[in-house]
Amino acid sequence: MKNISIIGSGTMGNGIAHVFAQHGYKVALIDMNQRALSKALLNINKNFDRQIAKGLASEQSKNEALANITTYQSISEGVQSAELVIEAATENSDLKLKIFAEMDAHAPANCILATNTSSISITKLASATQRPGAVIGMHFMNPVPVMKLVEVINGYSTDKQVTETILTLSKAINKIPTVVEDYPGFIANRILMPMINEAICSLHEGVAGVEEIDTIMKLGMAHPMGPLQLADFIGLDVCHSILTVLYTGFGNPKYAPCPLLTNMVTAKKLGIKTGEGFYDYTLGVKELRVSKRFTS
Ligand code: NAD
Repeated sequence: MKNISIIGSGTMGNGIAHVFAQHGYKVALIDMNQRALSKALLNINKNFDRQIAKGLASEQSKNEALANITTYQSISEGVQSAELVIEAATENSDLKLKIFAEMDAHAPANCILATNTSSISITKLASATQRPGAVIGMHFMNPVPVMKLVEVINGYSTDKQVTETILTLSKAINKIPTVVEDYPGFIANRILMPMINEAICSLHEGVAGVEEIDTIMKLGMAHPMGPLQLADFIGLDVCHSILTVLYTGFGNPKYAPCPLLTNMVTAKKLGIKTGEGFYDYTLGVKELRVSKRFTS
């Protein structure tokens, strides 16, 4: 496999593009939004500089990787010669169904169609295509250049050979793939999101403040980041969408998003990407400052 197309150049799409380009693959990075594409290239550049500073990459490998990436605004053009397409667009079921139908219509017949969805059913996305056996979940973790895991999700109809190909490919880009079956939230988010939601509910009920909750989970459970900081990092809209998928998928009220999370998403306080969530990032992300909303 040489040609990989990636749909969506946001937080995850640019990280996935970075890793494939770094390992010598030709990457077509597709986003309907030109500004998102420009920002993605800047981010990839910045993340390479970080790797160079740590001795994990060289100027030459950065330039070679950047030369491997071509950007497109249209899916039909960007997937034309793909052997694998990885969809990493916004976490919205209707949007992804439309994108899968479009990928299916324009990608070559033998192309594998993967999704980086955090929670939406692979089987459902496969149903929008004429090739359900070639549809699979490839759930990368954030930040993609740093995190080793790829959660590989078999849809109901995924062919064994397709799973094998994705396992081999994941290892070729120096990741560690783990296979799970297609149920709401898969494994990573079925376990992570209820913990984040419980942290938000604890804040909402006044059991403890932002710093206290995060400190307890960092020092008490040896988590590298507290759950509220992690929610800001993931994006509160993404957390809300995943909880809604768990809630509707299992029909169990224990997964209902906390009303405080719903309010913050409605108010567009989405975490790092909008400059404010549980913490305030208007002065950068290095020094953590609790958002004014939660300090009095
Ligand atoms: P994001 O909001 O940062 O980026 C989404 C991008 O998709 C945007 O640039 C948007 O312009 C683009 N897009 C939307 N509709 C499109 C279309 N029709 N055609 C082309 N581009 C389109 O989102 P993200 O955080 O990168 O999440 C992307 C996917 O990855 C989601 O499914 C999410 O659940 C999953 N994911 C996110 C994380 C995380 O930590 N953020 C982790 C793992 C998986």
